[in-house]
Amino acid sequence: MTVRLEGKPVAEGIDEATRKAIRSVPTGESPPCLASVHRGVDSPFRYYLKRQAKAATALGISFRDEPLRPEDGPKELIERLAALDRDARVHAVLLEHPLPPPFDFYRAMATLRPAKDVDGVGTANLGRLVAQTPVQVPAVALAAVEIARHYRLPIEGERVVVLGRSETVGLPLALLLAGKGTGLNATVTILHSKSRDLKGALASARTIFSCVGRPGTLTREVVPEGAFVVDVGVATVPDPARPGSSKATGDADFASLDGWAAGVTPVPGGVGPVTVAKLMASTLEAYRLSRVEEGR
Ligand code: NAP
Repeated sequence: MTVRLEGKPVAEGIDEATRKAIRSVPTGESPPCLASVHRGVDSPFRYYLKRQAKAATALGISFRDEPLRPEDGPKELIERLAALDRDARVHAVLLEHPLPPPFDFYRAMATLRPAKDVDGVGTANLGRLVAQTPVQVPAVALAAVEIARHYRLPIEGERVVVLGRSETVGLPLALLLAGKGTGLNATVTILHSKSRDLKGALASARTIFSCVGRPGTLTREVVPEGAFVVDVGVATVPDPARPGSSKATGDADFASLDGWAAGVTPVPGGVGPVTVAKLMASTLEAYRLSRVEEGR
């Protein structure tokens, strides 16, 4: 039987700890604050923005929507981030990515101190992850690892495959899994679009983390029997049940893997809610770090 590795109980546990910590913020002090900077146009980021705002408000985190104006360019973006970095009432900052040219995402992110780069996607934080001294780590990578911990998936000392090598998802996740923390220490293989022989590369994997964004990438034809799949990928496809509308789907073909894989995270309802919960926990961490910086 294939277990559905639901994200909800994992997200609830993380949220409970975050809520408890926020309740203990002394009366009269401003709560943790997350600011989200984006182009303000009709991009997929609008969807994430709504989820961020809803999750923050539910936990007692204040949320600042920071849309750029249509006429704003790279200089105005850097000025906006510099102002947020100076603002002691803002503890955590997210920047929409990817950004189209002429914006330079990494140059802009370098404006923020590592603790305020709440999604850990600036080069300072990514470099620290390589050095095993991270300040902030991408929430999606933390979420995938948290799901693996919660469901006790085979990771430590085991063969683990990460599909995808982007700087914000696949690579940070592979670095975390190969790291020295408790329950990590995996033997990690990273696959990408130029990798040959997917089936052969997955053959001895106990746990597979898929961060591709292409539905149907993982079927029983390539996944070894009894493996676990943590499906990070999200793609939008037409919804046959509701003509004219679309639905989110992952990289794994759930129907094909049912009765074959040991466990699969669903999409939606798997990694997604845990990523949001981890982002909020990282906002709380940014708040704590700001207090340490202020000597409180
Ligand atoms: P991305 O920048 O498009 O990267 C996709 C990666 O997949 C690339 O490294 C690409 O290789 C690799 N790839 C493409 N085809 C492949 C194949 N057949 N086999 C193995 N690897 C292949 O996307 P991203 O930003 O990393 O995001 C990855 C997915 O995660 C997306 O679907 C995104 O929506 C999702 N995501 C989910 C969450 C969540 O909370 N659930 C959060 C963030 C992102 P190359 O490098 O060679 O091009």
